[in-house]
Amino acid sequence: MTVWRDVVGQDETVATLSAAAADPAQMTHAWLLTGPPGSGRSTAARAFAAALLCPDHGCGDCHECRTAKDGSHADVTVVATEGLSIQVKDARELARVAQHRPSVGAWRIIIIEDADRLTERAADALLKALEEPVPRTVWLLCAPSLEDVIVTIRSRSRHVRLRTPPADAVAELLVRRDDVDPAMAAYAARAAQSHVGLARRLARDEGARIRRRDTLQLAGRIGSLGDAMEAAADLASIATEESTASSAERDAAEKQRLLEQLGADPAARTQPPHIRSQVSALEKEQKTRATRFGRDVVDRSLVDLLSLYRDALVVQAGTPVELVNVDQTELLATLARSFSAEQLLACMTAIGTARERIEANVPPLLALEAMTISLRLPQRR
Ligand SMILES: [Zn+2]
Repeated sequence: MTVWRDVVGQDETVATLSAAAADPAQMTHAWLLTGPPGSGRSTAARAFAAALLCPDHGCGDCHECRTAKDGSHADVTVVATEGLSIQVKDARELARVAQHRPSVGAWRIIIIEDADRLTERAADALLKALEEPVPRTVWLLCAPSLEDVIVTIRSRSRHVRLRTPPADAVAELLVRRDDVDPAMAAYAARAAQSHVGLARRLARDEGARIRRRDTLQLAGRIGSLGDAMEAAADLASIATEESTASSAERDAAEKQRLLEQLGADPAARTQPPHIRSQVSALEKEQKTRATRFGRDVVDRSLVDLLSLYRDALVVQAGTPVELVNVDQTELLATLARSFSAEQLLACMTAIGTARERIEANVPPLLALEAMTISLRLPQRR
């Protein structure tokens, strides 16, 4: 077994990184790993960390490999942003950690999973650390694309690009690693358009599958203006439902832990002022996280919808291309029959515009309403 097994469909990247881990001459102090969401950037970064720390350059089995992969290794720092951005104080702290020699391993490794979320000032603070390399410290920065990272950081790191992995490679990973049934794995990998994390969720969580199906079904029901408003509201509430389902438990556990750390009684009805202020700081952070997560969920629904109209276009043209939504033949037939090719393309543009608007902080419901109006089925307008 090797630590690279879970980095699926990325032969080139694996070749570059594993060669660097084995040969000091090919090593450099800062790497920038880019790739589309779900392509496995952070998995690749963690595998690289393991390969650097493992005596066998990434056997996948030893203590070093296992702890580097799960982020618990003493010399590995993983920054996974929960908020909307990485602040300057966090960047300064990382720059400080980077100065330290590794405590047990050969390298000190700092992984920033969302280097695209560095604020300008945070990036400046990191830049100093990148400009003055510390002999045994390695930075692994991950981002969707080169354009997402400020140019000064880009120019000081070596770039490695991940691709969208083939759906069958993702399905195979789900079967092997997560013990998913092969037919389910194939469905999930295709429906998630090879987004590894999303495919895993679809395969394992029936609620997620139902929400996805409900989202797609909306497309076939938008006739009148009223339908459009209703569909937008439904989309927004599906997203809220999903983000609430996944954050409520964690938020409560975090609050409980904070109160315990502060030596407060979690059951008390009122807390002293110094504790109240810390609790409200935590709640503010949780709210920011929920906002970001809610937006991500809406965006995923829109990616699902986009795949539906793309499939309808394929069905209409009779092109021998594999469909993303093979399980939606009836709905695809309806869309292909109701819309002209031009109209289907206009639907796809409307979805793209909604994604851009939401990314630019337009309230999601507003952006969704504008979009669903453009998705009305022609003969029923
Ligand atoms: Zn190992």
